[in-house]
Amino acid sequence: MNFSLLICSVVLVLMLARWGVELWLRGLNRRHVLAHANAVPDAFKGSIDDATYARSVQYTLAKSKFSQIEDTYGLVQLLMAVLAPVLIMPLFNKFTPLPAGNLRERLLALARRIGFRAADIQVMDGSKRSRHSNAFFTGFGRFRKIVLFDTLIQQLAEPELEAVLAHEIGHYKKRHVPKMLAGSGAALLLGFFLLAILARQEWLYRAFGFSPGSIVPALLLFGLLSGLVTFWFSPLAH
Ligand SMILES: [Zn+2]
Repeated sequence: MNFSLLICSVVLVLMLARWGVELWLRGLNRRHVLAHANAVPDAFKGSIDDATYARSVQYTLAKSKFSQIEDTYGLVQLLMAVLAPVLIMPLFNKFTPLPAGNLRERLLALARRIGFRAADIQVMDGSKRSRHSNAFFTGFGRFRKIVLFDTLIQQLAEPELEAVLAHEIGHYKKRHVPKMLAGSGAALLLGFFLLAILARQEWLYRAFGFSPGSIVPALLLFGLLSGLVTFWFSPLAH
């Protein structure tokens, strides 16, 4: 078993353990709440009336159910992020180390020169699907691997391959992925803000033959038409 797989397994076990314990604790809490659902407990007598207490019981139960779904969804998301490179990608493609030689030396030298840590360079058999070529990184920290499509190696000369790798490392060095994530988060907030304003404008509904009153047409129109505006900002993402 190699080291990154070991780390991956530890993370996996911790994730499942936390998920399981949280699920169990929520169940415990729900059973306790249910057991005392019929009457206000002594400690709260006088400070809360029956109706409010009944509502708080319902709220606690509903919130617990919702958190359960949330936890499970979070687990699946994390699982995909952690496992995709290790377990899922090898199912669809074969990864082999780039053989020792000029190209390997040249690429590793580039990585060293600019302080990019990489454990290995691997070749992926992208050619089994298409002539599309690509290069990317997988894994975290010192387990990071550089992956080149075999199509890329077939199509490009060594200096060109070096340039492609330099370009990809450039994305990493300039922190483009976190920046893109932050950017799209901000854009999403802005979008919802605009939607909230537009949903209150009667002219929008009338202009497209809807009558104001329900938010549904606004959501529909926003979904259909927002692309007309965002298209012009797409160069910003490149
Ligand atoms: Zn790029």
